[in-house]
Amino acid sequence: MAAQALDIHIPVRTRRTSNESKPLNPQDFLAKYGYMRRSSRSPEDLAESIKLMQTFYHIPITGVLDNKTIEMMSKPRCGCPDIDPPTTRSPLLPDNPAAYTLGPAWKTKHLTWTINRYYFNTRKITERDQKDAMDRAFKVWAKYAPLSFTYVDRDADLTIGFHQGDHNDGYDNRFDGPGNVLAHAFYPPDGRIHFDLTEDWILSSDDGIEMFTVAAHEFGHALGLGHSSTEYSLMAPVYAGFDEKFELHADDIYGIQLLYGRRQTSRTTASPPINPTNKPGKACDTNFDATVRGHDEYLYAFHGKKVYKIGDTGLVREDSIDRVFRGAPYNIDAAFRHPRTRQVVLLKGARMWLFNRFTLDPSYPKYLDVSNFPARPAAALTFKDKVEIFGGGYYWEWDVDQHKVMHRPGLTYYRYTSNRLPSEFDSILHWKDGYTYIFKDNSYYKMQDDGRRGVVMSGYPKAIGPAWFKGDCEGDTTL
Ligand SMILES: [Zn+2]
Ligand SMILES: [Zn+2]
Repeated sequence: MAAQALDIHIPVRTRRTSNESKPLNPQDFLAKYGYMRRSSRSPEDLAESIKLMQTFYHIPITGVLDNKTIEMMSKPRCGCPDIDPPTTRSPLLPDNPAAYTLGPAWKTKHLTWTINRYYFNTRKITERDQKDAMDRAFKVWAKYAPLSFTYVDRDADLTIGFHQGDHNDGYDNRFDGPGNVLAHAFYPPDGRIHFDLTEDWILSSDDGIEMFTVAAHEFGHALGLGHSSTEYSLMAPVYAGFDEKFELHADDIYGIQLLYGRRQTSRTTASPPINPTNKPGKACDTNFDATVRGHDEYLYAFHGKKVYKIGDTGLVREDSIDRVFRGAPYNIDAAFRHPRTRQVVLLKGARMWLFNRFTLDPSYPKYLDVSNFPARPAAALTFKDKVEIFGGGYYWEWDVDQHKVMHRPGLTYYRYTSNRLPSEFDSILHWKDGYTYIFKDNSYYKMQDDGRRGVVMSGYPKAIGPAWFKGDCEGDTTL
């Protein structure tokens, strides 16, 4: 009924360096980048998805196609989705529920690359210069993660090519000529990285599209990172132009280190490496990305793609997240139980999923207004009738009904007055035994909590596996 009304074509100038106009179809934009299903037809869906998009781009949330929104949609950008839609084929692996913020990682840290089709407007950039730009763009990531990139002539893990229009990876992934979509890439273990041949590519200048900058962004995808809503991060979807003093944003560094750990240099010795979230290995040696007390009083502990159901006698069952919490993503950041309704809330990136027992509430996932958050949520806790969220060394109280931060954020240090606690941790749980547990890597801390301040009990940290899984894991089985 409303189908006609939604097909809005707005002519806009897509680049300041060209005079051509390209029709913008906002509905196509919203579907292509994951804000809306292609089948969505109602004006309500459109308004909701515009709000989602406005939240992602930190522009006023009006729910209508105002000038700022149109302007944002028309900017030169990456062709990969901002949110991987479950129903459309995307340049990122189509059936990977982990793709909201982080994709899968490469199993090897020593990757090879090649260029199988150069940009051939060689008046401007020689092949040698293109190869050099790509090499520099790989080093952006290798500086912070223990990765190496070696050029080879054939059979490379990562294949770079400049292509035009429809180039055999699906009609939806066709390039659109000068402006708007500049490039796209596929998650591991695919490794394809494509640039739109028709762009005016240039090096170390703003007088065109800067190749090194776009390559560094696309390599982030090829290494497993999705788009970030963090302003000024490299993995934000919109092309930000050439920056002579280019440096990775903390958000990008956080992402790549989640996937591959930290590069160890002789100078940094104090901090332990971050565990890659999909670390294989024995469950006994696991870490918990998120923990939540279920409506059924079992503990649900999340790890990468898995969820462990844990009872008083230990591990009851291990399953894939999407089989237990259908519609939930992998690699969850934080989880908590609604203090009144006992609904389980899962947080990942800037989105939340709400489950009634094990059924996803149909109005979820929703976006959080993360602009009020001091850091990315890393852990969440239901304590009595309150929800506290932790991240980046801060904690903040959260209004579960209004979805917003209450009070000013405090430093975690003041919430848990113990110098034995790590300032950042993976997950936190107020358990039915009345104690609060903090999980970090493969160990955990137990705290007595008088409601104002937590104190770590002696004998902790202890290993997670034996205490929580019991049974097959060797070690101390008391919590
Ligand atoms: Zn991108
Ligand atoms: Zn392509």
